[in-house]
Amino acid sequence: MHSTEICSSPWIEICEKAFDIGGGFSPGFAEAVCSQLAAQIGRAHGEAMADAFVAGATELAHFAAHGLEDNEDAIDAEREAVAVSRRIVRPVLEAKLQARLDALDEQAKGDPVPCPKCAEATESEGRRSRTWKSVLGPLSLKRRYSSCTQPECDAGIAPSQRILGLPDGEYTARLESE
Ligand SMILES: [Zn+2]
Repeated sequence: MHSTEICSSPWIEICEKAFDIGGGFSPGFAEAVCSQLAAQIGRAHGEAMADAFVAGATELAHFAAHGLEDNEDAIDAEREAVAVSRRIVRPVLEAKLQARLDALDEQAKGDPVPCPKCAEATESEGRRSRTWKSVLGPLSLKRRYSSCTQPECDAGIAPSQRILGLPDGEYTARLESE
């Protein structure tokens, strides 16, 4: 079994610990459950994924803590729920994509990258950040970027971005198709 999969026995353990920390079923209990889960995710998938989990769980906790306003109907509530669900998952998706880009960049470290336009050598400019607009909202990701060494050529390439299927344009392929 995967180490972060929550089967009933670790789940009970997490709740018991949280119960002790939070002093029973109080607002502190939810916070303690959340930090216990984040610690477990962090051990298996790193700090960035744990932070993403906390950011998403905080959105969910905020949504759960606020009832409908008097003037809100089911249509408004469902619309808000869809928007919130995107905010919950967005940081986790971002962390997953970043982890994959990190692994791909690490694997290809030192490999020569030919220019996509003129096939001459390129030079790494290090890991550059950029943002894509996705179905879930903006995704900010870092990936290695190399630019052509030929003065008359303005091309550049980010191989891990290409392998992962992130386009050169500002929209992810999924958002583009909607
Ligand atoms: Zn070139």
